[in-house]
Amino acid sequence: MVDHKNVALLGTGIMGAAMARNLLRTGHGLRVWNRTRAKAEPLAADGAQVFDTAAEAVTGADVVITMLFDGPATLETMRDAAPGFGRGAVWLQSTTVGVDDVPRLAAFGAEHGLVFVDGPVLGTKAPAEAGKLTTLAAGPQEAREALASVFDAIGARTVWAGDDGASAAATRLKLVCNNWTLALTHGAVESVALAKGLGVDPTAFLDTIKGGLMDCGYVHLKSEMIMNGDFTPSFALTNAAKDARLIVAAADAAGVRMDVTEAGIERFRRAEADGHGDEDMAAAYFASFDD
Ligand code: NAP
Repeated sequence: MVDHKNVALLGTGIMGAAMARNLLRTGHGLRVWNRTRAKAEPLAADGAQVFDTAAEAVTGADVVITMLFDGPATLETMRDAAPGFGRGAVWLQSTTVGVDDVPRLAAFGAEHGLVFVDGPVLGTKAPAEAGKLTTLAAGPQEAREALASVFDAIGARTVWAGDDGASAAATRLKLVCNNWTLALTHGAVESVALAKGLGVDPTAFLDTIKGGLMDCGYVHLKSEMIMNGDFTPSFALTNAAKDARLIVAAADAAGVRMDVTEAGIERFRRAEADGHGDEDMAAAYFASFDD
């Protein structure tokens, strides 16, 4: 039986807005808040209640979802929301945060009587809009039951990584997967830049690898953004740079060298400095050229 929980969603950016629409489409009661209210307002037409403060948005919610920029933004927002928390509400923390952020967030949840679930997602804007994310989760059994209808609404598949949200088991898995995403992105955009430099048609590059072991959806997605000159963000470059830094910090703590990811951070830094931070991470392409 589908349980239509009264859900609060804090953060209606690219991912949060898409998740919100799928929660509403599947009959969930949804209360939303976003720092920039104008970005949350269009969700009212889909049936969401839009609030001025995070505390008002979480009032009466059985499930609170956070989908914000990073760990500090999430903690700050949850501190503001605290006056509205109901005891025993489940907190699905879906922002991509650092391994070190998770125990801090879990401790905050415990102090406020929330059932904490470390719950990052895999998949970008299009799968989020289609309700086809892969949701990763670590949290207690009681949360699994409470979140079943939410995960059905936003995702195609849920991977449970453990029973203890504070262990960051889901975030660790997320960072490993994101490292692969970033490697694919840098590989794709640098190859298109190299094609340009060598006078090779990028379409010939894509056609040549098509259907073979070197092929994958990401290389087409990101290369075509460059070829079409359309860098509308699915995953903003600034966000990708943040994730790369989280990956390297986690790797450092584990004694793992991340030469490729560190080089990728430098490419993101140059692209951000040239004003491409709000564009899709495919705009790392521009870091290939000196002017
Ligand atoms: P986004 O469109 O840039 O949205 C970021 C959200 O965070 C906005 O609601 C923004 O509010 C809010 N925010 C930023 N700083 C804040 C602060 N200090 N206090 C309160 N709110 C703050 O990003 P997104 O693509 O939806 O990504 C959200 C999270 O999901 C990130 O952690 C990202 O790494 C992760 N993620 C993204 C993707 C993807 O492909 N896009 C995929 C998986 C996971 P304003 O509107 O006021 O700026």
